[in-house]
Amino acid sequence: MLRHWANTLSTMTIFNSRTVPLIDQRGATLPNPDASLAPKAHLTTQGLLLDTHARPLRDLRISVTDRCNFRCNYCMPKQVFDNNYSYLPHADLLSFEEITRIAKVFVAHGVQKIRLTGGEPLLRKNIERLIEQLSTLRTPTGYPVDLTLTTNGSLLGRKARDLKAAGLRRVTVSLDGLNDEVFRSMNDVDFPVAQVLAGIAAAQTAGLGQSSGEAGSTGLKINMVVKRGTNDHEILPMARHFKGSGVVLRFIEYMDVGATNGWRMNEVLPSSEVIARIRAEMPLVPLQASKPGETAQRWGYANAQGEHDKRAGEIGVISSVTQAFCGDCNRARLSTEGKLYLCLFASQGYDLRSLIRSNTTDTELISAIGHIWQGRVDRYSELRSAMGPDTGTGARRIEMSYIGG
Ligand code: SAM
Ligand code: SF4
Ligand code: SF4
Repeated sequence: MLRHWANTLSTMTIFNSRTVPLIDQRGATLPNPDASLAPKAHLTTQGLLLDTHARPLRDLRISVTDRCNFRCNYCMPKQVFDNNYSYLPHADLLSFEEITRIAKVFVAHGVQKIRLTGGEPLLRKNIERLIEQLSTLRTPTGYPVDLTLTTNGSLLGRKARDLKAAGLRRVTVSLDGLNDEVFRSMNDVDFPVAQVLAGIAAAQTAGLGQSSGEAGSTGLKINMVVKRGTNDHEILPMARHFKGSGVVLRFIEYMDVGATNGWRMNEVLPSSEVIARIRAEMPLVPLQASKPGETAQRWGYANAQGEHDKRAGEIGVISSVTQAFCGDCNRARLSTEGKLYLCLFASQGYDLRSLIRSNTTDTELISAIGHIWQGRVDRYSELRSAMGPDTGTGARRIEMSYIGG
């Protein structure tokens, strides 16, 4: 199994005269806790698990494939993810039954929202079957899990109806610009923007844009990663296009995830500047967070009285670089091959697959996951902010395409 991890250990890749050392982190594993131990008595009044910073476990992101049909340069740069790159072999992937078994334990521990991601999740064969299984999960109080998926939208036109029929509630589509030339160059596989826009329309028609009932939780969301000098001139056209459409557009600061995208601080456009640019043309009012742990700061389009015009809708900004939000981070991430990561910027994960493939009972699995979350200390963004904007914590990080967004 180490074969496919070892092959990039000493490779170096050149980005516009920058040399990026590649160290494949997929093999790095933390020892699993002793599954026979009962979780520590460290529960909230609702019986939920808390980590060492008193953060509950609410959100599970599951990566279902490490493959993608796009090569966005901020995520899977072509120079690294080329024909020689070793993706995980099928036998290493968690099966749908294994994913569902693990997800069930997380839901019992307080997870209310599950997001399928990747790689490109719609490339995983029969993904609808997994959605069917996950949609049967119920929280301890009997509610269905808020089941959603992040996609590049390329296959949505074909699949939206089946996804909805399988039990998917909502989707988030990544779209980095409306201009076809800009979009083709950012996905780096010459994929036309019209096909993603058609996918978004198909998702709306299929009912994947329904609200989950919470304030501000409009179903269909669009994520735009903003890279200064690459697509920041698309901010206003995107805002104009989606204003009043029922879709929430969210601008994400270009993050220093992984170790292959050659990230530089001078390519980050702070969210404050995104808001200032939109506000200069379309007045905005700040909105309350709809729930604790929400990643995006919400802004509503204002009417002539300076109040939120609900028909015009809202936008969001995700300021992972300039404004750390680790304080209430309630997210865990399960990689394609069953490693549990407690932070997007983690360098090591816990190998849950080895636990479930070694006849571990459900009680032992519950206990192991409980111990892992209770020992969680991660707060990478806050530490980076404390150290200065152009620094990392020094540890080698896992790729976004492997761990999921
Ligand atoms: N392929 C799917 C997609 O693009 O929506 C799902 C996986 S992708 C890794 C999940 C999200 O991560 C996408 O919205 C993508 O834009 C975002 N992302 C990837 N690399 C990023 C980076 N360096 N900075 C900020 N967001 C990033
Ligand atoms: Fe693929 Fe999504 Fe990464 Fe783009 S952001 S390369 S679509 S996984
Ligand atoms: Fe959560 Fe880690 Fe991001 Fe902080 S840096 S918000 S702990 S994922």
